[in-house]
Amino acid sequence: MSVGSVFLVGAGPGNASLVTLRGVECLACADLVVYDRLVPARVLTFAPASAEKVCVTDLAGSHPERGPLVLERMIAAARQGRCVVRLKGGDPLVFGRGGEEAEALHHEGIPFEIVPGVTAALGAAAYAGIPLTDRRCASAVALVTGHEDPAKPDSALDWEALARFPGTLVFYMGIGRLEKIAQSLLDHGKPPETPAALVQWATLGRQRTIEAPLGDLARAGRAAGVIAPALTIVGPVVAFREQVSWFEKLPLFGRRVLVTRPAQQSADLVRKLEELGAIVHALPAVRVGEPADWGPVDAALARLGDYQWLVFTSVNGVHAFVRRLRTTELDLRALGHIRLAAIGPATADALRTYYLKPDLVPQEYRSESLVAALAERVAGQRVLLARADRGRELLREELARIASVDQVAVYSQEDVPAADGAVLDLLRNGEMDYIILTSSNIARSLARLLAPEAHAAIRDGRVRVVSISPVTSAAVRELGWPVAAEARVYTMEGVLEVLVDLARRER
Ligand code: SAH
Repeated sequence: MSVGSVFLVGAGPGNASLVTLRGVECLACADLVVYDRLVPARVLTFAPASAEKVCVTDLAGSHPERGPLVLERMIAAARQGRCVVRLKGGDPLVFGRGGEEAEALHHEGIPFEIVPGVTAALGAAAYAGIPLTDRRCASAVALVTGHEDPAKPDSALDWEALARFPGTLVFYMGIGRLEKIAQSLLDHGKPPETPAALVQWATLGRQRTIEAPLGDLARAGRAAGVIAPALTIVGPVVAFREQVSWFEKLPLFGRRVLVTRPAQQSADLVRKLEELGAIVHALPAVRVGEPADWGPVDAALARLGDYQWLVFTSVNGVHAFVRRLRTTELDLRALGHIRLAAIGPATADALRTYYLKPDLVPQEYRSESLVAALAERVAGQRVLLARADRGRELLREELARIASVDQVAVYSQEDVPAADGAVLDLLRNGEMDYIILTSSNIARSLARLLAPEAHAAIRDGRVRVVSISPVTSAAVRELGWPVAAEARVYTMEGVLEVLVDLARRER
C-alpha cells in the first residue's frame, strides 16, 4: 500500500471564508482531519461528510503530551494510505508548531505539504482596520509571542530591542500577561502614549477591538473583560483605525441573529448575514425528509400527460419533484407540454437550475396572489400541486373551485424534537438580538422548543422577531410574540432588507 500524504493546512483566523482555495482542495480529499480547538466549524464542512474528524483536545492527554499523540495518529493514518489534513488555526508556521510536526513527518519519511493560512495578526489587521505597515510610520512588523516557553534556555524576550523596534508589534497569546507585556515595553522606553489595541475574536461577528494608549491598555482590557483569543497591536498605525475600519461599521455587526430554516436551506442566508457582520446562530426548527408515501407522486408522474399545469410553492418541492422524476423512466421532456407556476423568485430560480422556465410567478409571493394569478388561466384544466406534506390548504381549496386539482406531497416537513443547548440558553437569557422566521410551521415548531424564559424574552422585546410575510406574522402573533419587522417583499432578500433597517434604527 502506498503511503498517504499529510497536509498541514492553515484554517485562517476564524472566519471560515478566509481559508485558502488550496486548503479547501486538501480538505475535499481528506480521509482524516485532525483539527485544533479554535478552527471554525464551517471549515470542517469542506471535508467530505464521510471523513473522520478529530479535535486534538479529544485526544487523551493534556497539552504537553498531546503533541506526540497527534503525530502518532497522523503518521499511522498516512501509513495506511489515508489522506490526512492537519488543520490549524491561522497559519501553521506562525506560533502553530507546524514546523515541529513537519520535522517529525520528515523523520518518518511521510510526504507532506504545507498550506499557508491567514494568520491572526493579518486577520485582525484587516478586520479591525489597522494597516500593519505604513510608509509614514511603520516600515516593519514583528509577530511576538506573549507566551514564552518557560523551558527555553533563553526564555526572556529582548524587551529592549522590542521597545526600540522601528515598526508595529503584534503580540499573540499574551492576554493573561498583558500587564507584564505593556510594563516591559514601557520600562524599556516605549512611550506610554503609543497607540495600541486589543482585538478579540478577530474576523468574526463577535470581534471586539479595545483601543487605548499603551500606558492604559492593560486597564482598558481588564475593564472590557477581554479574554482569549485576542491579540495586541502596538504602534502608531493603530490611529488609522478611525478611517480604515470597515467591518465594525457593517449594519449587523455584533448582532446575534437566529436562523431557523432547515439546515440544508440556510447556507446562503447564513453567508449573507455574516457578510453583513452578524453573529449567526442556527436552530433549524423543522427538518425536511422523504414523504411517507411516494405512491400518489408516482401515480401523478405516470399520468403527467393529463396535466396542463404544475404548481410549486417551495424550492424543496421543485428539487424533490425533479429528483423523483429521475428515478422513473421519464426525464424532463415529460414536462414539455405542462405550464409551470412558482410561488416566488426562489422557487422560480430552483426551476431554472433545471433549465425550466416558469410560466407564471405572481406579483406578490404568497398563496392568495398565486391563486388570483392562476385563476385566470387554469379554469377547467387539470392542475398538479407538488408540495410539502403540511402547510396551508388555501391553494388547493381555491383552485378546486375552478379546476381539477391533484395535490401530492413530494417531501415531508416535521418539527425537530430537540435543539442545541447553547443556542437555547442564549434565547432563554434574552441574549439573541433577532430571530428570522420564514414560515408559520417554523414559528410554531420553534415555540415548542423554547423555555418559558425564552418566550418571555421574545414577548418583552429583548429578542425581536423578523418575519417574511403577513401569514408568518399572523402565526407569530398567535404565539403571543410581537413582530418587530415584516418583509415588504416576501423573499429572503426582503427579510434581510427590513432586518438591516431595524438594526439601524436600534443602534
Ligand atoms: N497559528 C495561529 C496562532 C496560534 S496561537 C495563527 O497563525 O494565527 C493562538 C493565538 O493566536 C491566540 O492566543 C491569539 O492571540 C491569536 N488568535 C488566534 N485567532 C485569533 C482571533 N480570531 N482573534 C484574535 N487573536 C487570535
